[in-house]
Amino acid sequence: TSRFAEVQQGAPIEVFAVSKAFSDSTHQKKVNLSVGAYRTDEGKPWVLPVVRKVEVELAADTSLNHEYLPILGFDAFSTAAAKMLLGASHPVIAEGKVTAVQTLSGTGGLRIAADFLGHVLKYNTVYYSTPTWGNHRLIFLQAGFSEICQYRYWDAESRGLDINGMIEDLSKAPENSVIILHACAHNPTGVDPTQDQWKRIADVVEERKLFPLFDSAYQGFASGDLDSDAWAVRYFASRGFEMMSSQSFSKNFGLYNERIGNLVVVVKDPSCITATRSQLTLLVRGSYSNPPCHGARIVSRVLSDPVLFEEWKGCIKTMSGRIIEMRKGLRERLEKLGTPGTWDHITAQIGMFSFTGLSAKQSKYLGEKYHIFLLSSGRINMCGITTGNIDYVAEAINDAVC
Ligand code: PMP
Repeated sequence: TSRFAEVQQGAPIEVFAVSKAFSDSTHQKKVNLSVGAYRTDEGKPWVLPVVRKVEVELAADTSLNHEYLPILGFDAFSTAAAKMLLGASHPVIAEGKVTAVQTLSGTGGLRIAADFLGHVLKYNTVYYSTPTWGNHRLIFLQAGFSEICQYRYWDAESRGLDINGMIEDLSKAPENSVIILHACAHNPTGVDPTQDQWKRIADVVEERKLFPLFDSAYQGFASGDLDSDAWAVRYFASRGFEMMSSQSFSKNFGLYNERIGNLVVVVKDPSCITATRSQLTLLVRGSYSNPPCHGARIVSRVLSDPVLFEEWKGCIKTMSGRIIEMRKGLRERLEKLGTPGTWDHITAQIGMFSFTGLSAKQSKYLGEKYHIFLLSSGRINMCGITTGNIDYVAEAINDAVC
């Protein structure tokens, strides 16, 4: 008999299952609105021209080699990335309260953060928004958190933020809970707190002694502007919180499979940094030893060269601009078709995703009848919509709702 005979089938990961259904479909007009990756108006993946340019330079640079990076990664990258998040002139940087380590993209940063918060700082309770990105729960579960709780976020009625519910739930959270906050472009709802609402959230975090962990996977993708999208993180840092932020460069650099991310830690007392880094070193060493280099080289070059940096900002504008156009187009079409319900939330939401309000049944119907694939929550990746398929998608949604 096999030691593996008793292994139970694990639950499928929905987003990959839906993408497979798309790939397997032979329908001429099939549309993939599931996975969170940018697509051009031709429906193709996009290598940012600035990234391609740096890759060509790197390939020609014979002084580079494939030696191991240090355990905590490429320092020049981490420093530049932390400045991009906090703003180069943020007082916490000048005061020496910030340290950062390269991670295996946003997911890896969250996992190292969860391991550190659980094993080193001894937190065991975490709160995430209802709904949230599907991986938050799994990451904290596998890091050993025993209390995994939720705070209200999405108000289905208004198709917006349930700020009062959120504040109420956080004010009931036990002291010393970790709270996961999306820095911008909340996944899956596309709904972010306003600046005034962030201030209220910060008040509760302070009152309840919660530990803020920002998940920053879309800086630049929400508004097209790096500074506006980092407002909440910078505000929390200014309020004097100790906190962590996991940065992903998957979306804003289009470097999905290079696994490039950064974990930024802000402490009150700079003298804690050396020991903190030593514990992060042990966590990384026992997990994957050290990170890959290619993405770190690209991102650090772009962030530290003013000409490349401007070029990159242009690429972000192209991506966020196309998404905004598709939002407008979809809303206009649904309103024109007289599709029951209101559709202004499609343009009010920001970032890559729209939480359409479509039910699981309607989402399934779109897959089966039209080969338009989306998550059962009704979340759609706006980038899956193009000028070529927008009429088809709008008419299909209209049919599903009617
Ligand atoms: N957080 C959120 C909210 C996300 O949407 C994503 C990407 N889907 C991530 C983190 C992490 O992605 P990655 O590991 O590719 O950086």
